[in-house]
Amino acid sequence: MIIFKKAADIHNFLATKIKENQSIGFVPTMGALHEGHISLIYKSKAANSLTVCSIFVNPTQFNNPLDFEKYPITIESDIAMLEEAGCDLLFLPSTDEIYPKDFIKINYELGHLETILEGKYRPGHFQGVCMVVERLLRIITCNILYLGQKDYQQCMVIEKMISLRNMNVQLVIAPTIREVDGLAMSSRNRRLSKEERQNAIVIFNSLMNMKSKITNNSIEEIITEANKMISEKGFEVDYVELVDCQLNPLEKTNHKNGIVALIASSINNIRLIDNMTLINPVK
Ligand code: AMP
Repeated sequence: MIIFKKAADIHNFLATKIKENQSIGFVPTMGALHEGHISLIYKSKAANSLTVCSIFVNPTQFNNPLDFEKYPITIESDIAMLEEAGCDLLFLPSTDEIYPKDFIKINYELGHLETILEGKYRPGHFQGVCMVVERLLRIITCNILYLGQKDYQQCMVIEKMISLRNMNVQLVIAPTIREVDGLAMSSRNRRLSKEERQNAIVIFNSLMNMKSKITNNSIEEIITEANKMISEKGFEVDYVELVDCQLNPLEKTNHKNGIVALIASSINNIRLIDNMTLINPVK
């Protein structure tokens, strides 16, 4: 695996590969890699001749400075995992490479995506996400961008950003990889104590419970039950929401746009998110 630290170097390297008609898959990450990230690398490898991963803990997307400070950094094991997975290139920039002095900040018109769910609880977060992903995509000119469904709203936001900025890149959304007990893999899981880790299964369990009850119970009932289940395990619930697959409010009678359940809750300042498609949209 070739490691690049300078934006111009990886950009120029990729330019020669594009001239040779190589197809390039890109997996942006913030490091502290786990099997969820690696599943994206495998997806990219299966469909492209070159796979690029980036590791950059983006300061502009953290609305909570403590979360940024405590974000785990495990660069050596990250590199080993990427080597083992057969990743071709790693972009490991400094903050100055991503945000040089002449960097021009823009405002992305994300509409309702910015004010609901994560947007409501993390003001400015998605502007920061768009800022870094657009910058990365300008440096790493790729054919396919790979994101995880684990961050469902982020996928919708990036899809919107790609269309707002007329970027020529295909988006592939890959399924959430889970621990054996169902907890969605996340870099933040390693901050949980043994007891918190055990209790964290409640997030997955409540999603499964909602899935099993969606056809026979009211939306209000299943949301109330999920809130109760999660709070009983000592987690503070930011939201348990059911929306359609485009994150619009549910129509009362017609669920042809599908139903997704999304949860955010935290314990001891460790905030976990997860989601599950309860009903698939009618194609
Ligand atoms: P992060 O390093 O948390 O910014 O995540 C980088 C990418 O990996 C994002 O597209 C995430 O959605 C994806 N990702 C994180 N956790 C998982 C998971 N458990 N399964 C699949 N993809 C994931």
